[in-house]
Amino acid sequence: MTHLTQGIPSGAKRSRGTPSSTALQRSQLRSDCRTSVIKSNLPTKSRGTYTLVIDLPRAQTIRVGALGAFRFPRGKYLYIGSALNGLSARIARHIRADKKLRWHIDYLLAHARIKEVWTHQGDERLECVWAQAALAMPNARVIVPRFGAGDCNCAAHLVFLVE
Ligand SMILES: [Zn+2]
Repeated sequence: MTHLTQGIPSGAKRSRGTPSSTALQRSQLRSDCRTSVIKSNLPTKSRGTYTLVIDLPRAQTIRVGALGAFRFPRGKYLYIGSALNGLSARIARHIRADKKLRWHIDYLLAHARIKEVWTHQGDERLECVWAQAALAMPNARVIVPRFGAGDCNCAAHLVFLVE
């Protein structure tokens, strides 16, 4: 397990229901530290697949770039991606607040908080496998079809988890 940030509760437990049985490195972010500097143990040139555990504090309508505007329920979301050219830089970008809105996830993160980041280092692009596993959970819902999944056949790479 590699901690990506400072300020991680020492009692952080490994969660169940992770989208893969592969060894995940998991870090827990304080809900109020979105703009804090990441202190990453990942090598700069690390590559791999990651999941962002996201909390949207209240229901709201959010425009997601060219996909249009959607009503997002409050609660927990999983976003799955891969970065085969700089995993730590990608995660740092997700956490950074001041950036141009470019990807679908940027539009959601402008209103939401990243609670946890799960990473797995490796050359394989596992994002679709993880997304399918997340989508197969009984409480999984797709809020925005094709969110983060413009280049594959997944229903979405963003999964809302009904409480
Ligand atoms: Zn996919």
